[in-house]
Amino acid sequence: MSTTTAPAEQKIVDEVPKQLYIGGEWRDGAKGTLAVEDPATGESLCEVADASTDDAKAALTAAVEAGPDWAAHAPRERGEILRRAFEAIVSRADDLALLMTLEMGKPLAESKAEIAYGAEFFRWFSEEAVRINGTYATNSNGQGRVLTMKQPVGPCLLITPWNFPLAMGTRKIGPAIAAGCTMVVKPAQQTPLSMLMLVKILEDSGLPSGVVNLITASSSGETMAPLIADGRLRKLSFTGSTEIGRKLMEQASENLLRLSMELGGNAPFIVFDDADVDAAVQGAMIAKMRNIGEACTSANRFHVADKVAEQFAEKLAEKMGALKVGRGTEDDVQVGPLIDDGQRSKVAQLVEDAIGRGAKAVVGGHARDGAGYFYDPTVLTDVPDDAKLLHEEIFGPVAPVKGFGDEDEAIAAANDTEYGLVAYVYTNDLKRALRVVERLETGMVGLNQGMVSNAGAPFGGIKQSGFGREGGSEGIEEYLETKYVAVNL
Ligand code: NAP
Repeated sequence: MSTTTAPAEQKIVDEVPKQLYIGGEWRDGAKGTLAVEDPATGESLCEVADASTDDAKAALTAAVEAGPDWAAHAPRERGEILRRAFEAIVSRADDLALLMTLEMGKPLAESKAEIAYGAEFFRWFSEEAVRINGTYATNSNGQGRVLTMKQPVGPCLLITPWNFPLAMGTRKIGPAIAAGCTMVVKPAQQTPLSMLMLVKILEDSGLPSGVVNLITASSSGETMAPLIADGRLRKLSFTGSTEIGRKLMEQASENLLRLSMELGGNAPFIVFDDADVDAAVQGAMIAKMRNIGEACTSANRFHVADKVAEQFAEKLAEKMGALKVGRGTEDDVQVGPLIDDGQRSKVAQLVEDAIGRGAKAVVGGHARDGAGYFYDPTVLTDVPDDAKLLHEEIFGPVAPVKGFGDEDEAIAAANDTEYGLVAYVYTNDLKRALRVVERLETGMVGLNQGMVSNAGAPFGGIKQSGFGREGGSEGIEEYLETKYVAVNL
C-alpha cells in the first residue's frame, strides 16, 4: 500500500517556488534551470533556477543592504518571526515531509522526524534571540570599567548538504536570524526544494526583504567563490564534506572570514561486555540506519567486546535483514535509496574492498537491480584493520563489526581516525563510562543512546570533523562578535 498518491506528490512539488529569492523577490536564474531528481526512481521531479555569479553577487548585495536595519530590529521581533515560522513548519509537517522524501529518498517517518528536529531550531533560537547579553565589570586595578557587548557578525554565507535538506538549514538560519545577521543561503543542488519551501515560510512569517536570500546553482564552486572573496561578507558557515570544507577554508583565509565547519565523520560505536546487548543493538539500529546511513553522525564502525561480539553481530544482522527497502513514500518502507549512483557505487566498492580483504557479509552486501539507488542493509564481521571502510565515511547502510579485548584497545581503535565528530558508548558501568568518554577524541558522545542530535545541545566536531557548534546556547555565539569598551570613569 502506498501512503502517497501521484497527485499528492505533484501538488506539493508544484507548490514549491522554483526561483531564486533575492532582496524579497522571487526571480529567475541567469543560467536557466537545473533538474531535481527523485533518487527512488531516477526521474526528474522538477527544475529550479540555476544562478550565475552575478545572481549570487546580487544576493550578497541584498544581504549587505538589509544588514543595518535587521541588526537594529528588536530581538523580540526577530524571535517572534522565528516562532511563527516554527509553527508554520509544524503545521505543514506532512507536506514538507513528503517533499523531503521525494527529493532525498528517506522514508516518510524519517522525513517527519527531520521536520520536527529542524523546526525545533527555530523555536530554540526564537527564545535565544532575547537572551543576547553583555558584561560590566570593574577593571582588575580598580580603575575604570570593562564593558562588553554582543553584536551581529554581519552578512553570512550558509552552505548546506543534501542529507538533511531542512535541518541543516534551520540550524544555521535560526541563530543567524536571532543574532541579527543577514544571509545568503545555498542548499545542495540535489535537494533544494525543502529549502525553497523553508524560505517561503520565512517570507510568509514576516521576515523583512533581504534578511534571507536563496541561491540555487549547478556550479557551486563558480557561484560561491566570488562571494567568499567579497570583502562585504563576514562569515561562512558550511556543512558538508571535509574535502570541500578544506577548500572553502583556504578561500576564506583571503578575507579572514569567521568560520563554522560542520564536516564529515567516522563515528565509532563501542559496546562493552557489561552493556545490555539488546539495548546496544537497538541503539545501533538508530545510530546506523537513521537517514539510510547517510548522516555525518552515522555509526561507521562497531567495536564490540570479544565476549559479546558474535551475539551482537547476529542480533544486529537479524534486525538489519528484516528491514524493508523501497521508495520512501510507501508506508511500511524503512530504508530508502541512496542519494545517487555515485554514492551507491562508493558504498559497493567499500564493501567489496572489505570482503576482498577477508570480511564476511552476515547479511546484505549487494546493490539492488532496477530503478533507483538502493543498497541492501549489510552487516560485516571479521573486518581486517586495513579495510577502507573502517577509515572512510561509508554514508550507507553498512555496519562493520570488530571485536576488541580490553578498554585501552577499544579506545585506541575508536580514536584511530582523522575524524572526531561523535562516538557512541554502551556500558552499564558508570566509572567506565566517564573514563571512556573523557578519552574519546570527539565533539559529542552518545552514552547508552544511538542519537545525539538535539536543538538544545551544542552539535559539532573536532579534528577533521571541523569546528564550531550548532544548537544549544553556543549556537548563537557563532553569529555574534564581542565588542569590548574600556570605560574611563
Ligand atoms: P559536499 O559535497 O561537501 O557539499 C556540501 C555543500 O557544499 C553543497 O551545497 C555543495 O553544493 C556545496 N559545494 C560543493 N563544492 C563547493 C565549492 N567548491 N564551493 C562552494 N560550495 C560547494 O557534501 P555533501 O555530499 O552534500 O554532504 C555530505 C557530507 O556532509 C558528508 O561528508 C557528511 O558527513 C557531511 N555532513 C556533516 C554534518 C555535520 O554537522 N558535521 C552534517 C551533515 C552532513 P552542490 O550540491 O552543488 O555540490
